[in-house]
Amino acid sequence: VKFKDVIGHKELKRDLIREIQADKISHAQLFLGKAGFGGLPLALAFVQYLFCENKQTNDSCGVCPSCVKNSDLQHPDVHFCFPIVLAENKVCDPLLGDWRSQIKKEPYFNLYDWTNVIDNKGRNAVIGTEQSGELLRKLSLKSYEGGYKVMFVWMAEQMNATFANKILKILEEPPARTLFILLTESPDKLLITIRSRTQLVRIPRISSDDLTSYLITSHQIDPQKALTIANFSEGNYLEVLETLEFAEEKGTYTEWFIQMMRSSYKKDVHGMMNWADGLSKENRERQKQFISYALHMFRLSIMTNYLGIEFVNASEEEVKFLKNFAPFISGNNIREFFKTFNDGYYHIERNAQSKILFTQLCFQTMRYIHVA
Ligand SMILES: [Zn+2]
Repeated sequence: VKFKDVIGHKELKRDLIREIQADKISHAQLFLGKAGFGGLPLALAFVQYLFCENKQTNDSCGVCPSCVKNSDLQHPDVHFCFPIVLAENKVCDPLLGDWRSQIKKEPYFNLYDWTNVIDNKGRNAVIGTEQSGELLRKLSLKSYEGGYKVMFVWMAEQMNATFANKILKILEEPPARTLFILLTESPDKLLITIRSRTQLVRIPRISSDDLTSYLITSHQIDPQKALTIANFSEGNYLEVLETLEFAEEKGTYTEWFIQMMRSSYKKDVHGMMNWADGLSKENRERQKQFISYALHMFRLSIMTNYLGIEFVNASEEEVKFLKNFAPFISGNNIREFFKTFNDGYYHIERNAQSKILFTQLCFQTMRYIHVA
């Protein structure tokens, strides 16, 4: 990871770079902040800069052998310790492949995301006793390249008491040229003695400006939308990702809804069958979400009729559609729509045959829509 790939944090990056340039590196550092603020990518950029053989003023070169190994997360002197599910593994090594691909895919992730990667049952992940042995063994190795050895402990608040005491002992008598980077979201869960032996690197929220420009340049989002998303994310990039995901999904639901209403209105039986067939292939969760979305659109239609479209909080695409569609939802059919779609939701939850269910839903819609 290069510093330029980390969102925002201009001043913090400058401080970290200075620390290395001035050769005043504290041997144990505690990166504190929510995962979505970017502590992990920052720490990775910091370590890559430390090892870079051709340091630039503002960033690592990205191409020297050390940078290549670091960006591949394969540097022999950089070690990682992270929470694991003890019922599945006792040490980190078997999960290093997952760890590397997660970071390469998306270096912003939290404990919840990570637990989903390593355990399909979503069990609690901790840093346990045997991992302290693994860590000690790695530290006892001579550094390959003769320079620093680095040990990351990610989500350090998950460490158990044995691990905490082992690491405390190391921090009390730190081996030469060894750098510990502990990352945490909840420092209160760490031993005070560990906290007092580490230098605190506080990771603040990402500024709204930085998030906005990142969204514009890296996600090609238009400036107005980018600003809105940034303002609602509390400086947390993971919140941003969640918003984007929902927006994407919502677009799909809008499309499905429009297709359904159009083919039902035109009494296009072939189109209705195709539509039902398509939706029956989605998973139950999405089918249920679509029905909730349809109910939401019926409510918006009624609001449009009674209050006017300007009172309706909807996307551009929805507004365009509602202007023409709303008159077809009225006091003559709204109760039928609510009842039919609510029943549909109920039956999907109970594993109804979804193709039949969605076909029926189309035919009922066809009947109701013509009695507005
Ligand atoms: Zn380099």
